[in-house]
Amino acid sequence: MDKEYDLPPQESIENTFGSNVFNESVMRTRLPKSAYLALKRTIDEGIPLEPAIADIVANAMKDWAIEKGATHFTHWFQPMTGITAEKHESFISPTKEGKVIMEFSGRELIKGEPDASSFPSGGLRATFEARGYTAWDCTSPTFIKDGVLCIPTAFCSYTGEALDKKTPLLRSMEALSKQAVRVLRAMGNSTVKKVISTVGAEQEYFVIDKTLFEKRKDLVLTGRTLFGAKAPKGQELEDHYFVTLNERIANFMNEVDQELWKMGVMAKTKHNEVAPSQHEIAPIFTTTNIATDHNQLVMETLKKVANRHGLVCLLYEKPFAGINGSGKHNNWSMCTNEGNNLLEPGSTPHENEQFLLFLATVIEAVDEYAALLRASAANPGNDHRLGANEAPPAIISIFLGDQLTDILEQLANGGVKKSAKGEVIKLGVSTLPVFPKDSTDRNRTSPFAFTGNKFEFRMVPSSTSIADPNMALNTIVAETLSRIADRLEKADDVDEEIETIIKGIVKAHKRVIFNGNNYSEEWIKEAEKRGLPNITTTVDAIPAWIDEKVIRVFEKHSVLSRDELFARYDIYLENYINTINIEALTMIEMVHRQLLPAALKYAREVAETVTSLKQANMPSMSAEGLLRKLVLTIDAFKNNAEALEKSLSSSDIDDLLKKAQYFRDEVFATMNKVRVEADKLETLVDGKFWPIPTYADLLFSIM
Ligand code: ADP
Ligand code: MG
Repeated sequence: MDKEYDLPPQESIENTFGSNVFNESVMRTRLPKSAYLALKRTIDEGIPLEPAIADIVANAMKDWAIEKGATHFTHWFQPMTGITAEKHESFISPTKEGKVIMEFSGRELIKGEPDASSFPSGGLRATFEARGYTAWDCTSPTFIKDGVLCIPTAFCSYTGEALDKKTPLLRSMEALSKQAVRVLRAMGNSTVKKVISTVGAEQEYFVIDKTLFEKRKDLVLTGRTLFGAKAPKGQELEDHYFVTLNERIANFMNEVDQELWKMGVMAKTKHNEVAPSQHEIAPIFTTTNIATDHNQLVMETLKKVANRHGLVCLLYEKPFAGINGSGKHNNWSMCTNEGNNLLEPGSTPHENEQFLLFLATVIEAVDEYAALLRASAANPGNDHRLGANEAPPAIISIFLGDQLTDILEQLANGGVKKSAKGEVIKLGVSTLPVFPKDSTDRNRTSPFAFTGNKFEFRMVPSSTSIADPNMALNTIVAETLSRIADRLEKADDVDEEIETIIKGIVKAHKRVIFNGNNYSEEWIKEAEKRGLPNITTTVDAIPAWIDEKVIRVFEKHSVLSRDELFARYDIYLENYINTINIEALTMIEMVHRQLLPAALKYAREVAETVTSLKQANMPSMSAEGLLRKLVLTIDAFKNNAEALEKSLSSSDIDDLLKKAQYFRDEVFATMNKVRVEADKLETLVDGKFWPIPTYADLLFSIM
């Protein structure tokens, strides 16, 4: 008989799921009814909580947390570093008798004042006010992590400028809701109150052995390998995708699930990915805000649990050259408070009219603000990935599938339409064909694919917060929805107007629809003909944040002000510069202290061999040839490293954009040259001499 697997029984998962979350059911049992109802109103409708009620809620949270073993609380926030920040404060409060009692006030729950001067602000704090504060976001549940009560918060300057990822995300959700409700109301829905954008983020990552990781300064300091010749084996056998999990990985993943479930993260699927040592985890979708918080928890938990298993989780977009990198597939849709997915094709003409209108509005938004979307998915790591025949190209296009594309085109071209099957189509009046719910013609190469009832934005970087792409998406769709609402509110015949609107959108924006192979050379040419932007690098993408058209939309919908956008622009450019600078410095250090000495030592050994053989009257052409090759490569390597040092020494440029361009065109470009020679050396030098683990060591150690 097979040995029984030691998994917790089903029932215990049901009990432990969300056991560390101060969720709805805990609230209901722990709070007096009036406090519970007040809190619910705050969560659902944003009505501010009265101080007295806040005290009651805080006290209940504290008692609950202490019972669960917590001693501290923290305002958990997401500064512009893109990772989460927390400062722990214990619940203790002194008494007159020299003892302590455990306390947590409503004031402490609602507002915090972290000493936040070291977080990137893009100059916002300098111009406005020195300190920042954190404000409780009660729409994302409070939870316990490592004995600390974590309160999700937004982080702002004293004058209210967003200093974080969450604030604009929340504002964008509000903007989207407002405009979508306007459209639905104009279409005759009198009960809808709110529209929520929903997200499910599929997270890719690598896991490698910790002892090997520690031997690689580049992985430790930059998250990616700056050197490394291709291993004899890569992913060509396609023998890793979906393959049975190896036991060490399976144990690690199980523990990740357990931890996430306790914190209320609906971790659902896990599997091996295409590249060796690459994996994926995906939760069940939820509101964009909670999905964003949860994705931060997923990333953090992957790292933490890996460490417990003697493993290291790499979230960087391209940790290894020559094999696939990692991304996040950001599945996005809109849902009414009545549970109606607005991107779900329906079975009645009215539902289909609604579906086509919301589909069209996304098409318009994505085409018109493609550069912004591209910028929202830009980071230095993604520059190695996008357009590299494994990830979508840097060109934004939309996959709709043949049937939907056909329907839209027919709508655009005439009055009465026929579906593929021949029925007559008239929006809102007669019948539309039933749309395929789960379209079988999946396209894995599209950066923005319609997958039946949601869009999957596949450009998102694996290592960063998903707040930016979703904030951008929500905002641009809010904008295109507002244009529709403006028209429908004035229309005499709403159905006719909807048809005109959809027609207009399809005509104006069908260039962004592409159902073919996004990896092909032809598409790049075709996209250029269609006038679609192809923004290949982060530095070229970042200026979209301060494009006048973008500023207008963000200000119109109160998501980010001009100053806030400029601050973000600065922060992203600085981040690019700092990232490349650290990579370059790490490279230089590894060259001088590890790789060059190793290569020279080996060259000396070969030189001695050459001499000995000569003395023995047996000169060897191959030994001499090797020596020559070694010396030439070492010299080229050393020269390139010197050029890299030189490029860094003249990188002091005032204008941030110019400086970032310099780092891309000079520093980064020279780094690539250094790497080429290093990788050549790696294949020449005796393995005994090579001081760092190879790709084969790193990628195939936990098979
Ligand atoms: P795949 O893309 O691998 O085929 P699925 O289609 O099952 O996987 O779903 C991928 C992700 O999309 C999951 O996280 C899922 O919860 C999420 N998802 C499904 N429906 C929606 C929706 N309406 N809004 C947002 N995300 C959704
Ligand atoms: Mg997917």
